[in-house]
Amino acid sequence: MAKRYDVIVIGAGPAGYHAAIRAAQLGLNTAIIEKWLDKEDKPVFGGTCLNVGCIPSKALLEASHKFVEARDHFDEIGIKVEGISADIPAMMTKKDQVVGNLTKGVAGLLKTNGVTAYEGSAKVSAGRQISFTGHDGKSEELSAENVIIATGSVPVEIPPCPLTDDFIVDSTGALEFSEVPKRLGVIGAGIIGLELGSVWNRLGSEVVLLEALEDFLPAADQQIAKEAAKQFKKQGMDIRLGTRVTGTEVKKGKVTVQYTDAEGEKNEVFDKIIVAVGRRPYTEELLAADSGVTMDERGFVHVNDVCLTDAPGVYAVGDVVRGPMLAHKGMEEGIMVAERIAGQMPLVDYDLVPSVVYTHPEIAWVGKAEQTLKAEGADYQVGSFPMAASGRAMANNETTGVIKVIADKGTDRILGVHIIGAQASEIIAEAVIAMAFGASAEDLGLTMFAHPTLSEGLHEAALAVSGHAIHIANRRRKK
Ligand code: FAD
Ligand code: NAD
Repeated sequence: MAKRYDVIVIGAGPAGYHAAIRAAQLGLNTAIIEKWLDKEDKPVFGGTCLNVGCIPSKALLEASHKFVEARDHFDEIGIKVEGISADIPAMMTKKDQVVGNLTKGVAGLLKTNGVTAYEGSAKVSAGRQISFTGHDGKSEELSAENVIIATGSVPVEIPPCPLTDDFIVDSTGALEFSEVPKRLGVIGAGIIGLELGSVWNRLGSEVVLLEALEDFLPAADQQIAKEAAKQFKKQGMDIRLGTRVTGTEVKKGKVTVQYTDAEGEKNEVFDKIIVAVGRRPYTEELLAADSGVTMDERGFVHVNDVCLTDAPGVYAVGDVVRGPMLAHKGMEEGIMVAERIAGQMPLVDYDLVPSVVYTHPEIAWVGKAEQTLKAEGADYQVGSFPMAASGRAMANNETTGVIKVIADKGTDRILGVHIIGAQASEIIAEAVIAMAFGASAEDLGLTMFAHPTLSEGLHEAALAVSGHAIHIANRRRKK
């Protein structure tokens, strides 16, 4: 007879392992099934985020940022460094150690919480029957009161750029270069293109990003995106908008990329190419014909507002369903679903999903961009604070950037916060909390911030909404 659980989670990325741990915390008999094998073919938990996504990319971003600081900026603060060089194999080893510690940590957390872990792949049939096939080839039938699909996403491949082992790689390959490519082409100037392009640019590659759209970072506030484009250019990244890649050719250890732009057909020769044109939901071999789970027109598992699929008792969370492909969005969905299964009624607030681009300066935002509010005809006011006016930013030698608070003109309720600057990823959390509690710009202005901090810039930007900022000349003066 099939082994029966209260909850079976398929996929142990951030969405899946959060769902499983929360379900177990709530007293539900929970199992999780994960099929990922690492570089040494060992089963590991953590999914894309821990193995080839958020964590390894941030390890390389931090290491390469520190390298640039030491090479180019330490002398500005009175530190002399000579003979500095980047040891790429050592950087990779450190990154792999971080990944290893975290993936083992997730395995430990699942165990501590009493989640039964299965290493292999799962297929969903009608009535929440799950066929499990282990990495050893052995099969087992399982069943559950509730199933949570959290199978994530994989990189999109495009016909002009077929991946090769050495020359044309996706984001996973770009986390594994053993040396710095002299000339690096990046197809797509989205989040991955900018983050991984930054890593290799900092380490010495000449980086060219070929982006299909005419607009740079269209999801970000366009004032911030403009400043970001200026900073990336200054760092030596060559971002070419409005380009369409038509083909690639690998010859004599180089890759030639053919593309068209407004001026016509062009060629560029690179040592390596990273293809970073988005990710697609991953559901291969997941659903039996009778599963009752359906997809939308873009291949995402179809779910309602609370992540229930079209099959009773089957939920889906994370990258495999609609919404931004962000680890924290999937984590919150996983927790929401586990709690709903246990009889609670939480919701995810999709209007308050923060976005961060971990470049330097970092870019972070929550809520609506100014161009969106303008297009909606909203009546709003903006308060901005340049990091150049922050005492802590000056002391840190990090004066690039701006914090922008947008509030409703009538109610003063905060509608969006947009940041470019050092530690924007940390400061944005304060804005998310404020907005989650329906704060007005005045509320933020009345809140005491520790001095000296970069966060004071958020306080000042909130004060600037009503013309009360202290450390800048206010555009709008009010008593
Ligand atoms: P995944 O993490 O993709 O996990 C899905 C899991 O399901 C996988 O482990 C897979 O093996 C397993 N699985 C699939 N099918 C089956 C099956 N049939 N049986 C058993 N197991 C199965 N997001 C951020 O928020 N911040 C970042 O800084 C960030 N950086 C990123 C950097 C890079 C280079 C990349 C590629 C992504 C990054 N992301 C980032 C995105 C983030 O990694 C994803 O949003 C997140 O991992 C999605 O979580 P998930 O649990 O939905 O899916
Ligand atoms: P993306 O959607 O952010 O960017 C892809 C870019 O490629 C877009 O600008 C798109 O216009 C462009 N593009 C598409 N087809 C193209 C073509 N044929 N030629 C040239 N350009 C083309 O996707 P991504 O950067 O691949 O990242 C995938 C997902 O991973 C995203 O959803 C992102 O949210 C997530 N991610 C998040 C973080 C983070 O939160 N810091 C970091 C990395 C990845």
